Amino acid sequence: MNQFMPVIGLEVHIELATKSKMFCACSADYFGAKPNTHVCPICLGLPGAMPKANKLAIEFAQRFALALNCQVQLGSKFDRKNYFYPDLAKGFQISQYDLPFSQKGFLEILSGEKVKKINITRAHLEEDTGKLNHATISGRRVTLIDFNRSGVPLMEVVSEPEMNNAQEAKAYAQKLQQIVRYLKISDADMEKGSMRIEPNVSLRKVFFGSKDPKVTKVLPPYKVELKNINSFKFAEKAINFEIERQRKILESGETPVQETRGWDEKNNRTVSQRSKELAHDYRYFPEPDLTPFTFTQDYINQLARQLPELPDAKIARFQKEFQLSAYDVEILTRSVDIANYFEEAVKAGKRHQLTPKQIANTLINQKIDIDEVFPAKLVQNIITQTQKTQLDPKELEKIVKKVLLQNLKAVNDYKKGKEVALGFLVGQVQRELKEEGGPRQVKEMILRKLKP
Ligand SMILES: [Zn+2]
Repeated sequence: MNQFMPVIGLEVHIELATKSKMFCACSADYFGAKPNTHVCPICLGLPGAMPKANKLAIEFAQRFALALNCQVQLGSKFDRKNYFYPDLAKGFQISQYDLPFSQKGFLEILSGEKVKKINITRAHLEEDTGKLNHATISGRRVTLIDFNRSGVPLMEVVSEPEMNNAQEAKAYAQKLQQIVRYLKISDADMEKGSMRIEPNVSLRKVFFGSKDPKVTKVLPPYKVELKNINSFKFAEKAINFEIERQRKILESGETPVQETRGWDEKNNRTVSQRSKELAHDYRYFPEPDLTPFTFTQDYINQLARQLPELPDAKIARFQKEFQLSAYDVEILTRSVDIANYFEEAVKAGKRHQLTPKQIANTLINQKIDIDEVFPAKLVQNIITQTQKTQLDPKELEKIVKKVLLQNLKAVNDYKKGKEVALGFLVGQVQRELKEEGGPRQVKEMILRKLKP
């Protein structure tokens, strides 16, 4: 019986949140805007229009690359990628071919309990295309083109095909999103399309007992690209569906077709969009209207020094500094805003002897809206809540005396060395208190009264 191992790589596109577009002064903040209102001769691709590169977009791309442990290149250039598509008015897209801004990085993800390293092939910058909207107007099916998105700076991050299941692919994409948000270079919102993921999936035959490790490293002779996925959940579903679909084809002795498939959300399956038996010939050539770039190592080093604390480092520090569980830390570091909020609350709580754990618990269990409650207010709330459960020592002493007198047998048992009897007495006092008052406080009072 043949066994197959899924081989998954991810191409992720992220729109950078710069004010203007990649090669013109039009606003890149197009979401929800009236169609074709954020356009000019450059992003409409009119003849003779001259592009000018957006400096900040390049810096964002380089910072992102550094956060992905990539080698940022000292020399780089833009190229034309030629193909025809209705959403691409010029007939080519300005992208990068042989000299991307960065390459060879890696990202660490959690695969089950283990840390797994996923290598990144390259991270380059390009321009986004326009958007096609299919509609029915006066009973006729038409396709409308909106060029507001055309020319928005777009990062493309390509991973090596090193993920082996849908969970790993999801973890990788989520980590990318988290880093982008930590860097504040994009909102990376999948629903809005500012982050788009395209998994490619194939299955590799696993040979058991093979002594030649090369045999098992051979990549499958085909690859299926998945498109039009707008949530992590759908990505996971689409990958799992593809794995099963391809497994059946392979088990019947055939090879799946090399193609692009989309996710059909209604019917929970992938559907063929176009077959891609041959690689496209994009006839890449250097963009003649933009001069190549050179950067100094000093500049790159400076960018690296200016990077904020990234998720992995923050997680390690939170665990060490605040002595919290991995679960708590994972939630508190999901976004940099929550992490900052937590640290501020810890600082404020310190003056009132509140522990980081108390603050973490309240923040997580009571699902605090950090935009509504200031950290100082949260600390005040915790203090009020704890005071309610603090018992008046005099009242407690009276009740303890009464309970001890009523349970002389347990008292004697405890004195003879039966530890269980103490637990019983604590329970009796708590019952008298009718509310669950701190068992430690009760226990301390009992022990004090039992002292010879
Ligand atoms: Zn423009």
